[in-house]
Amino acid sequence: MNIKGSCVKSVVDYIKEAYKDEGFEKFLTVLSGEDRKVVEMKILPSSWYDMEFYERILTGINICFIGVDPNLGEKIGKKIITDGLKGIYRVFLGALSQNYILTQSPRLWSRYFDGEKLEILEASDFSLKMGVVGDHKPSQLYCDIMVGAIIGFIEITGGNNVKAEEVACRADGNSRCEFSYTWD
Ligand SMILES: [Zn+2]
Repeated sequence: MNIKGSCVKSVVDYIKEAYKDEGFEKFLTVLSGEDRKVVEMKILPSSWYDMEFYERILTGINICFIGVDPNLGEKIGKKIITDGLKGIYRVFLGALSQNYILTQSPRLWSRYFDGEKLEILEASDFSLKMGVVGDHKPSQLYCDIMVGAIIGFIEITGGNNVKAEEVACRADGNSRCEFSYTWD
């Protein structure tokens, strides 16, 4: 099961930007020698990376920074979306209806994950329930990033005051992670 390099790169870039050289060095020291080498060699946006590698990166972030910023997952998730939907694509999004865009999100999602599937469980004008299925037991930070990414996505499509929570998680033995969103 793999994740697209562009997502991993946004996560690593967030750490560099938010915690500067000193924080980034600290983060590198908690990774294994092999993982550190991959991160230092630069993450390639168009390559695929193993989901277990991604989770080890998140574990490192968890160890170093989660105590400093409990909202870290949400911020990282928003950065992934902002980085991913830059420029012309974003202008294009602005011209479409929010509902249409949201119905397209599972297709968009499949460009970034090859073994997980995003499902829209319920959708109305100002609320959304999404599920993620796949044979992967995610960490808390993994799912927090997911919450942030979808908040970012809804904001880009014109939603304000987005409220979100994960209402069920595969980490607790649920068959899928379920996320609930409302906005104005
Ligand atoms: Zn979950």
